[in-house]
Amino acid sequence: MLPLVALVGRPNVGKSTLFNALTRSRDALVHDQPGVTRDRHYGVCRLEGQEPFIVVDTGGIAGEEEGLAGATARQARAAAGEADLVLFVVDGREGASALDDEILAWLRKLSRPTLLVINKIDGVNEDAVRSDFARYGFADVITVSAAHRQGLDDLLDEVRERL
Ligand code: GDP
Ligand code: MG
Repeated sequence: MLPLVALVGRPNVGKSTLFNALTRSRDALVHDQPGVTRDRHYGVCRLEGQEPFIVVDTGGIAGEEEGLAGATARQARAAAGEADLVLFVVDGREGASALDDEILAWLRKLSRPTLLVINKIDGVNEDAVRSDFARYGFADVITVSAAHRQGLDDLLDEVRERL
């Protein structure tokens, strides 16, 4: 069994873009509309000379319990619950939001090894963004731009150290 890495975060932070960057696929739907990814999405991250791992692109955890959004949220929670490592993806442009706070509280209860990944770091002040998320209390914070493939090597180093 290959190790499993789950991408968790609210809609529109760039989980699917990161999934595509890690798996070099165009499988995941990337869209400006929040919540466009309805299903769990599995792919394999293969790097030369490295043990591959499975990446799960979850739909947004919207906090709802009913209907399609609720089902999506439950699937996302299930994916995270079976992951060897969770990447908690947040949006560096928008900063920390109430929904991020909610997901963080849930992740703390889930108690899986978790890295904070601040995405969309292109064109923003990295220090300011890092201090915005400092209250989340993560020892290791990775900043990336999934869309521009920046910071992915550092992210992969951190992931591999934990698998
Ligand atoms: P998801 O809902 O979390 O899966 O988010 P998506 O991957 O669908 O991305 C949502 C939007 O953010 C899309 O318009 C992406 O093009 C955009 N986006 C994703 N990553 C980045 C990034 O690194 N920088 C910028 N500027 N935009 C990004
Ligand atoms: Mg998506």
